[in-house]
This record gives sequence, C-alpha cells and structure tokens, in this order.
Amino acid sequence: MEGRLTHLSRSIAGKRAIVTGAASGMGRATVHLFADEGARVAVVDLGEDRVGSVVEEIRSVHGPAAAQGWAVDVSDGGQVAHLVAEVVEAFGGLDILVNNAGISRVAGAAADDAEFDEVWAATLAVNLTAQARMVRAALQYLAAAEGGRVVNIASTEGLIATAGIPAYTASKHGVIGLTKSLAVELGRSGVTVNCVCPGPITTAMTAAIPDEVKEVYARRRVPLRRYGDPEEVAHMTLSLVLPAASFVNGAVVVVDGGMTIRH
Ligand code: NAD
Repeated sequence: MEGRLTHLSRSIAGKRAIVTGAASGMGRATVHLFADEGARVAVVDLGEDRVGSVVEEIRSVHGPAAAQGWAVDVSDGGQVAHLVAEVVEAFGGLDILVNNAGISRVAGAAADDAEFDEVWAATLAVNLTAQARMVRAALQYLAAAEGGRVVNIASTEGLIATAGIPAYTASKHGVIGLTKSLAVELGRSGVTVNCVCPGPITTAMTAAIPDEVKEVYARRRVPLRRYGDPEEVAHMTLSLVLPAASFVNGAVVVVDGGMTIRH
C-alpha cells in the first residue's frame, strides 16, 4: 500500500516453538499465550503427567496440532539433542526457542561442602548449561527458519544479588552473559538472542513463601507493590519473538515492576 509505514508482522501464527519448563509457572503461561497466538508449541518439562496435562489444556482449546509434549530433563545433554531432533521432525522445523526451565535452591557460602557442591552443580546444569546446549542443538534449524528467535529466561538475580543463593545468582548472571555472547555470534545467521529478567513472580518457585511475607516484601521493594503474574512475563517473551522484534538482539529486558531501579 502506497505511503503505508507499518510493514512488520505482530503475528506468530504458524511458528513452531519449544518452551522448556512449560508444565508450570511462566513456561506454562508462555505456551498458552503462544498457542493462543496461533503457534505450535512443544511443551517440555520433567514428568509425563505434568507435561501431558498442559498439552491437554492447550489441545482442548486449539485442537490436537497446537501442542505436543516431551518429558525431558534439560540438564541431560543426550536428552536435549534427541528432543530438538524429535520436535523438528514432528513440526517440520523450528522458529522459536524459549529457555525457561530453572531451579532455585538455597546453599549459602557457609553450607557444608557436599551440600554446596551438589546445589552448585545442579543449579548451573539446569539454569545455564542446559540453555547453551539447547541453543547449540537448535541452531541449524533456527538459522534455516525465517527470523529464528531465542529467548533465555534469566532473573533480576542476573543483575543484583540476594544472600544465600550464590549458585542461582551466578547462574542467572551467566544467562545474561550467554545471551550477549550468542547474540553477537549468531547475528550473522539471522537468529536473535535476547533475555528476560523477571522480578518476583507468583509461581511454584515462590509458592513456599507465605503470602504475608510476599506482601511485605512487595510493599517495601517493588514500586508496583505486588508480585507479578506469570502471564505478565509471557507477554514480554512473546514481544521478543514477534517478527516485528527483528532488530532487538542481545537485549536484557527487566520485567520486575520497577524493583531493580528503585533507590
Ligand atoms: P516453576 O517452578 O513454576 O517452573 C519451572 C519449571 O522448570 C518447572 O515445571 C520444572 O519442573 C521445570 N524444570 C526444572 N528443572 C528441569 C529440568 N532439569 N528439565 C526440564 N524442566 C525442568 O518456576 P517459574 O517461576 O515459572 O520459573 C521459570 C523461570 O523463571 C526459571 O528459569 C526461574 O529461574 C525464572 N525466574 C523465576 C522467578 C520467580 O519469582 N518465580 C523470578 C525470576 C526468574
């Protein structure tokens, strides 16, 4: 159309996406949102039953082709390689990868050696190494797609630090570094790599914190005075995978109600 200035699409209809950690919290919100927007989603998480119930939720709304499930431990390199190959075979390609699976475990600097080492290794394996392996396994397919997209879920713990969770904080700082490195390296293949840093969000990960404690924390620390909802993070992830986000690369996007900029 002559004179028309908008030419970039805001639709992911028909795109094929993998979301890890999709049986709960922000991952679950993300696969629902992507499916609502017309994408085909690979629901990846631990446990056949947990994965299957999210797949059924989506299929009941959008039909059988909208979602397929894979019960996979993303910290296992062999499983990751198989997963990506199987998704590509099932969907005929891959356009979007959301590395969302994560764990948060407490073991401070003074924890005993065995506990510290175990928590450190497990946390880095799931939160950081798995993201790198997923990108490596998916790269050739994302590069073959029209505008491949990677979104890594980091945390405000990638920017600031809470006492007592050094492995988690280090892993999330690592996710930001990984995102920047891959954004620079993969740019030439047309794949963008960005990350989202959620602040405190109401999910299974924060379910053990009593409501009163959450409220006091949110009133003191978060300008919006509340925890975020998983869907509020999923919408930012969606924004970063839109065709219209084609020049956003290596960005570190904070979704925290203003928590980290408060003085
Ligand atoms: P959640 O516990 O609800 O969901 C995380 C999912 O990851 C779970 O379903 C879990 O089974 C899955 N998972 C864990 N280890 C896995 C593995 N080895 N293989 C496959 N799946 C695995 O928590 P959430 O809050 O939705 O977390 C999603 C992401 O957001 C995580 O990376 C987390 O670190 C990050 N995050 C959470 C918050 C928060 O306040 N909830 C804040 C910042 C960042």
